[in-house]
Amino acid sequence: MIFRWWRQRRRRKLLAQMPDSNFITLLSTSIRTYADWPQKRQQKAQQDVRVFIAEKNWEGCNGLQVNEQMKVVVAAQAAMMLTGVQDYYFDGVETILLYPSSFRRKSSNGLIVSEKPLIGEAWHRGPIVLSWRDVEIITPGRNVVVHELAHHLDGLDGDISGSPILGTSEQQERWDAVSKAEYTTFRDRLDHDRSTFLDPYGGTNQAEFFAVASEAFFEDPHGLRFHHPRLFFCLTEVYQADPTDW
Ligand SMILES: [Zn+2]
Repeated sequence: MIFRWWRQRRRRKLLAQMPDSNFITLLSTSIRTYADWPQKRQQKAQQDVRVFIAEKNWEGCNGLQVNEQMKVVVAAQAAMMLTGVQDYYFDGVETILLYPSSFRRKSSNGLIVSEKPLIGEAWHRGPIVLSWRDVEIITPGRNVVVHELAHHLDGLDGDISGSPILGTSEQQERWDAVSKAEYTTFRDRLDHDRSTFLDPYGGTNQAEFFAVASEAFFEDPHGLRFHHPRLFFCLTEVYQADPTDW
């Protein structure tokens, strides 16, 4: 309780200071649709980004020096995911690790254990790991920060399995039924070498399907709504927002 009070007080103090114009310029170029947002939503994003930056440990890996621009770009993607959410800042994520480019996961004795280079990784109760080069590449439907933070949300129930926690049992049941059916159809298309709107990587398993669908939800919402209307609707319930309004 005292910790919560102290945290609220620290946040109020932080937000009482005016952000500099550099910060606003950087933020406005970090979210594709930011310029079209109503002022109220822009202000919420500004606040969310500042809290997110202040409350995470930022560590550069493989010689990368993490600067303010990098923090704003990463935090802006997190803020975009929080437009419909109040007073939550991915609280379970304590550390953001940034590599200059793709990386291989190492074991504690230094041996390389991941087969392929990774561009991002999320750990249950652990850091979010990102390749800065890939954070900068945001193309329609792709966003590595959204992808890894979606995994984090998915893991809040203790299991990264493509089943994020929703607000009501009705929404939860709808998500479970719709995402399972959509994933099965998606896998079927891949198995028959048919084209897909979503990145085929989503066919790896249901957890990746949720993360890939979340990327499309924020980066190409009209496309997702057109190709996967039921999945799109369920994601509006997961994120409590509708990016086609943006
Ligand atoms: Zn993934």
